[in-house]
Amino acid sequence: MSESFVYQALSTRVIFGRATSAKLREEADRLGLRRLLVLSTPEQTPLAESVRQLLGDRAIGMFNNATMHTPVEVTRGAMDLAEQLNIDGVVAVGGGSTTGLGKAIALRTDLSQIVLPTTYAGSEVTPILGETKDGRKTTQRGPKIQPEVVIYDVDLTLSLPPAMSALSAFNAIAHAAEALYAPDGNPIVSLMAEDGVRAIVDALPRVMRTPGDPEARAALLYGAWLCGSCLGMTTMGLHHKLCHTLGGLFDLPHAQTHAIVLPYALAYNEPMIPDAMSRLARAMQTGDAIGALLQLERECAIPLALRDIGMPREGIVAAVEQAIAVPYKNPRPVEAAALTDLLESAWAGETRYKANSSKAICRNH
Ligand code: NAD
Repeated sequence: MSESFVYQALSTRVIFGRATSAKLREEADRLGLRRLLVLSTPEQTPLAESVRQLLGDRAIGMFNNATMHTPVEVTRGAMDLAEQLNIDGVVAVGGGSTTGLGKAIALRTDLSQIVLPTTYAGSEVTPILGETKDGRKTTQRGPKIQPEVVIYDVDLTLSLPPAMSALSAFNAIAHAAEALYAPDGNPIVSLMAEDGVRAIVDALPRVMRTPGDPEARAALLYGAWLCGSCLGMTTMGLHHKLCHTLGGLFDLPHAQTHAIVLPYALAYNEPMIPDAMSRLARAMQTGDAIGALLQLERECAIPLALRDIGMPREGIVAAVEQAIAVPYKNPRPVEAAALTDLLESAWAGETRYKANSSKAICRNH
């Protein structure tokens, strides 16, 4: 344990359980909200409609065009509607894309947000917003961005297809992994990170086998909440910076990018983060956290190479340039040659990548 640290609790009120959506109207009333705009992706419009019904006359409109990576053009459209309807708050129902739109509106208006998460991305408990403009994703933090209320309703996650559940769960693990070596980490965050990973690694195989199992879903959602909280309370390193760069440059799917890059980013940092690696290994009940992560990814049959999710190989140069353009704290210095090697390997999903790590990343498929 470090001898000194700073701990800042998150201000979000969290309601967790089954059928908790029923508390939505009560929560809106607690915040004094009367003119709510319900947000979702196009695919989740039917769910947004049922949420609108739960709100009754407290809902005065819907915007169902939330888009991954929070493009500013989409936010502009939602802002126009928000102004036209004179809303006093937003209800975001969906994954990180919908939560991101709610945050983007809150950043511009300081309106209250209630979030009903349906994935394991964790954005709902962070003061972080990533927005994309002209192919560049920039991230900012601030109190206006942090949602006021999160209603975790396990039942809303039952419909998330197994493959997407797995991808989203690896996204959550990435938050915890980087929190374990964050420059502003602390013992409380480390407890949450370790328990979050433990819960996810235990629940994910059960969800893959039986996606409708509410107990396994509850454990997965609980783990995702812990991991999201770790993200909200610390500053992320190489892994998150790289995924943001790749997402913005090539419009890659967020969770897939995280799942693929994580073992490579961990291997890159591994020589400098013995404590984080042993905590991860303990959480996963293994002696080799990176190997266990890759094994679990293989069992979930998710893509294991950036080329499989649409990244062009010639994009590696631009990605490296952008990823090293603005310096940030990372346990191991982020250098162009080593980063190129990491990306070449992650692009191909290769076995040879070692990055000074004692263990090679193995890919047996
Ligand atoms: P997403 O919100 O884009 O959802 C992916 C797809 O799954 C969408 O089509 C959505 O409609 C559908 N979906 C979501 N939940 C479902 C369910 N229960 N059943 C069926 N379909 C469902 O994906 P995501 O991975 O949750 O979020 C990615 C976005 O979140 C990215 O833009 C990323 O940058 C952002 N994010 C931000 C933070 C933060 O703290 N700022 C953290 C994590 C992710």
